[in-house]
Amino acid sequence: MKLRTIKSSTAGGALSSRLDFFYQGGPTGKDREALAEARGRMLLVIRTRWILILLFCLYGLYAVSPFFCSQDAGTIEGARTASLAGSLLTAVIFNLFSHLLYRKLSHFPWANHLQILLDIIVVSVIIHHSGGIFSPFWPVYPIIAIEASMLLENKGDVGIMCCVASIVYGALVAAEYSGAVVPAAAPFTGGVPGSNSSYYLFMWFWVSALTAAMGSAGLMATGVTRRREDALKQLVVKDQMTNLYNRSYFFKELNSEIQRSMRYNHVCSVIFLDIDDFKGFNDTFGHLEGDRLLGELARILRGKARRSETDPPYDIDVPCRYGGEEFAVILPETPLMTAGDCPGASGGMNAIAFAERIRQEVESLSIGGAGITVSIGAASFPRHGLTADDLVRAADEALYRSKKQGKNRIVIAETAEAPDQNGISSSGLNAGSSYPCGAPGSGSSETLPP
Ligand code: GH3
Ligand code: MG
Ligand code: MG
Repeated sequence: MKLRTIKSSTAGGALSSRLDFFYQGGPTGKDREALAEARGRMLLVIRTRWILILLFCLYGLYAVSPFFCSQDAGTIEGARTASLAGSLLTAVIFNLFSHLLYRKLSHFPWANHLQILLDIIVVSVIIHHSGGIFSPFWPVYPIIAIEASMLLENKGDVGIMCCVASIVYGALVAAEYSGAVVPAAAPFTGGVPGSNSSYYLFMWFWVSALTAAMGSAGLMATGVTRRREDALKQLVVKDQMTNLYNRSYFFKELNSEIQRSMRYNHVCSVIFLDIDDFKGFNDTFGHLEGDRLLGELARILRGKARRSETDPPYDIDVPCRYGGEEFAVILPETPLMTAGDCPGASGGMNAIAFAERIRQEVESLSIGGAGITVSIGAASFPRHGLTADDLVRAADEALYRSKKQGKNRIVIAETAEAPDQNGISSSGLNAGSSYPCGAPGSGSSETLPP
């Protein structure tokens, strides 16, 4: 009942159903951050495009003004004017559409490619109508290259867009030179179309080279910024000694994971680990060796945590240094015990098996001949709590009991409510025992001895 109330009051229901379509299993906190950045870039490009459209319109008004002000200027060609006005109108409608819907458009993987292609076509039409090879608007191609470097993540795609701009412009000037199409006379240049082939070639080469140069300059600039941003983000979210995530990131991710699990009806687990008798270890071997042990434990956690090796890679499980010699791992879409018992659980992964692998590997460590062990407390959503604080409290309390019961063991948190529906014994279970997620019942806990 409590869960249902929280579910229905969760903000952004409409957004989440839209996001379902694009992200299998629901967007993670990182997906949302990346989306917000992509939206910001898209909005910047849309605003720049408004400025360009305004400049085009002013130029168009200036270019046609002689036809209205002077008797000698001749008449305006209807088809040509319609085509130019049509291009500008297309650009206005397209940008208006993008501006109104950029939040939704940013979900589509090809929306940015399409924007850039349309920009290239509209600009080429405007160049054709403003003097062709003599048009002053060729610098807009390099601006489009910068736009591409800002909007597209993939360097190859930026190169392709620069090539498309070069080909479209090349085709336009070739068609004009051959006489297949006749450009409008450029108001300011007085150039005579088709008079000088080397000038055509030079202009085509110059515009293409400048477009490519602007594209790579934009790529370099945004690449440096993105790398710096990534490095800064790592500094903010990582613990410097162990290179694991820090406590504040742990809470941020746990909150995000709980929201996701609530919305998509998943389970997720969290385990807390504490090194046994670490003070004694420090006293015997010194704090530097103690630090080395913390590093070793961090290496084990990182090695056991699941990670997606996509480009860019990302962590599925979130191993954190909670503080001092206490560690925590968030295990998304992972039940405490076997996956088969819990709907929505992924693969055969379960939190207790994960914790047991860590416990065993730590037990096999030997620093200066000293035996090293960890105690572990485990809790899962929604069984042991519906908020991050509740889950942390439950796992921490299980860890405390693990210490009290003799250390070097895994203890599952007590369930706050619900009677024991399955009549399954809740104590003395060995690792790998299998039972439904809802069991066991009230006030119970499970201990998994070494
Ligand atoms: P228990 O088995 O009950 O957990 O006993 P314990 O000795 O591990 O626990 P206690 O809380 O008494 O001591 C924790 C110790 O961890 C005390 C502190 O010196 C040490 N510690 C905390 N942070 C660091 C660190 O960054 N480096 C080193 N070397 N030691 C640390
Ligand atoms: Mg401690
Ligand atoms: Mg300790």
